[in-house]
Amino acid sequence: MSFNSLGLSEALLKAISKKGYTTPSPIQQKAIPPILEGKDVLASAQTGTGKTAGFTLPLLQVLSANPQGKHRPIRALILTPTRELAAQVYANVKEYSTFLNLKSAVIFGGVNQKPQVATIRQGIDVLVATPGRLIDLESQGLLSLKRIEVLVLDEADRMLDMGFLRDIERIMELMPAKRQNLMFSATFSKDIRKLAHGILHHPVQVEA
Ligand code: AMP
Repeated sequence: MSFNSLGLSEALLKAISKKGYTTPSPIQQKAIPPILEGKDVLASAQTGTGKTAGFTLPLLQVLSANPQGKHRPIRALILTPTRELAAQVYANVKEYSTFLNLKSAVIFGGVNQKPQVATIRQGIDVLVATPGRLIDLESQGLLSLKRIEVLVLDEADRMLDMGFLRDIERIMELMPAKRQNLMFSATFSKDIRKLAHGILHHPVQVEA
């Protein structure tokens, strides 16, 4: 199978070939088509399987296919458990959106919020965030999640392990109910299934 046959746009194929990827990984082959169709997806995937491109590529395509408002409200939120993962995912988002007219930012705790806020103010389409800093900036009125179209929960099991359940529930209440939801997790405990049940609507289930 090739990336061409997955239905990705020329701009994304160009970014993929710039990265040097030739063949989509199994999780990419399985997750990309339903995400492009606008479906909710529950994916079982470990780090190292190519899961980041598995949700980032179709997410970027979904956003660029829909008309954009002038004011660039934040349209996609990628939640990650740690700042290291947030930074990594953001680096991927930047690379894959090289040839697209989409802007992105990353926010996480432990550092000054000012540069993060300044970037958001310029108008961004995609926000990569850890839960604590996200809630913090939202409650200060420095960002809004009211126009989110796509939500990604990356490494959802680690988020629960780190005690982010209440934060995730709070964040859900800040977003429109009608949106596309993608959840990636390495393991599927009872708690993860419960979280998935509360967030995803008739998800397509895929495994790496
Ligand atoms: P991830 O599981 O998202 O952390 O990705 C693991 C590594 O695989 C990263 O270094 C990616 O750049 C790389 N990668 C992702 N997709 C592909 C692909 N289709 N072909 C080759 N490498 C890839």
